[in-house]
Amino acid sequence: MTTIAEWNARYPVGTPVVAYPGARPEDDPDCERLVTRTRSKAQGLGGHSDVVWVDGHPACIALAHVDVIPESEYRAAHPITDVPTAVRELGALPMPVGPDPQAPGEEPRLSPNPHSPYASASPDYRHILPVPAVFPRPEPGVLAPTACDLMAVVPNDLIETRPGAPLPVGVCPDCAAVMQGGAPPERPSSLCGECGSATWHGDLCALCRQDKHEQWWPTRNDQPTA
Ligand SMILES: [Zn+2]
Ligand SMILES: [Zn+2]
Repeated sequence: MTTIAEWNARYPVGTPVVAYPGARPEDDPDCERLVTRTRSKAQGLGGHSDVVWVDGHPACIALAHVDVIPESEYRAAHPITDVPTAVRELGALPMPVGPDPQAPGEEPRLSPNPHSPYASASPDYRHILPVPAVFPRPEPGVLAPTACDLMAVVPNDLIETRPGAPLPVGVCPDCAAVMQGGAPPERPSSLCGECGSATWHGDLCALCRQDKHEQWWPTRNDQPTA
């Protein structure tokens, strides 16, 4: 039996847990099972039951109905799908940004991402792409989401930056701001001209941009890159 003092010493607020608001699975195989995090310290309730509060459930739950789980199990149940949330929850991520800029004696400057008519991110900068810690590693040539919440083509050569490392010259300032824990700029919403869904990527939504880019990419050398 874990006492309140032991629990609070070992498990800070925010610890990933499975909570059983009703019966435990040993008593009811169909019981409600909540993969969540604690949102309070443990405390005694009226002297007989030790309880804790968790995200996603209004009432307190007995400590005997809460099992601590590894962060990986929580993450499997709550995958992160966008960069700003990843930065907020995990801190600045290591991000591939482009070919090694550290040529000795030269001012390092990254070239912009490869051109695509379907990219929505600024063509003047190298945009930061999220890495495998949270997202699958992007294949070169793919139109991928950027830290500034737009779309850019993945370059051939990637290096990874580390949290806190100075970013090379040429990196998108909006991407850099997100890496430092800021939010991407607010962008006006519009309707995709292809599928009609709401988007902040202008005249085409992210998915339609990816579709069209995928078709265009193999033909890119047959056409002038205006
Ligand atoms: Zn950017
Ligand atoms: Zn669309």
